[in-house]
Amino acid sequence: MRRPYIAGNWKMNLDRRRSLELVSALRDRLTGFDRADVAVCPPAVYLEEVVRALSGSNVKVGAQNVCDRDEGAFTGEVSAAMLRDVGATLTIVGHSERRHVYGETDALVNAKVERALACGLEVILCVGETLEERRAGQTEAVVDRQLTEGLKHVLAADMARVTIAYEPVWAIGTGETATPGQAGEVHDFLRRRLADLHGAEVAVDTRIQYGGSVKPGNASELMAVPDVDGALVGGASLDADSFLRIVEFDRS
Ligand code: PEP
Repeated sequence: MRRPYIAGNWKMNLDRRRSLELVSALRDRLTGFDRADVAVCPPAVYLEEVVRALSGSNVKVGAQNVCDRDEGAFTGEVSAAMLRDVGATLTIVGHSERRHVYGETDALVNAKVERALACGLEVILCVGETLEERRAGQTEAVVDRQLTEGLKHVLAADMARVTIAYEPVWAIGTGETATPGQAGEVHDFLRRRLADLHGAEVAVDTRIQYGGSVKPGNASELMAVPDVDGALVGGASLDADSFLRIVEFDRS
């Protein structure tokens, strides 16, 4: 049985004070909570303080992005080793905003996945189609390419540290949510592709999060879909109460 995994992606939001207030509320309410894995991904400059504020808690701290290189003349970048050094244990890779706003290619996403895994980080690899691609019937082809290319050279043994996030681009930050049926179809497809790539055991064990306007009001129905193993939450993770209501979603 896959354990639900809920991660908050703060994107470029909140300041130092509000970040610490948010994590203090999460820490208080999630002490002793063990029904899901929970992570927060603050902006890189706040990582170290957020790690400190959550130390000893059951909330993991991760980055939103990572460099594909180890060190050197890469102005503005942050390496996987640096993330580890300040206490982050995971990183998001290939978020649609990185792909579509900053032009990250599948090859770059793959290099980032490799570097992050080599440094001992956990990875949340995001895949998802645009509205045009969905309308053109290309959803499966697009997520298949992003999954296959993103995981190129990744060993089955390292897949225990990989989570896939299916995030339809048209549902991110738009208030539009995939229906449970739409999410279920793509999650089922991704799991079958994981089986082709890494074998049935890895496919059964790998968690596939859904992301795209997840809110307290739709979390339970989305996470009731058999192949939806949690959520990557943007906007609703910026408020302690709404994020906690998603984390504590109704499992009945
Ligand atoms: C995200 O940031 O990955 C995301 C899904 O954002 P939102 O929940 O705001 O749509």
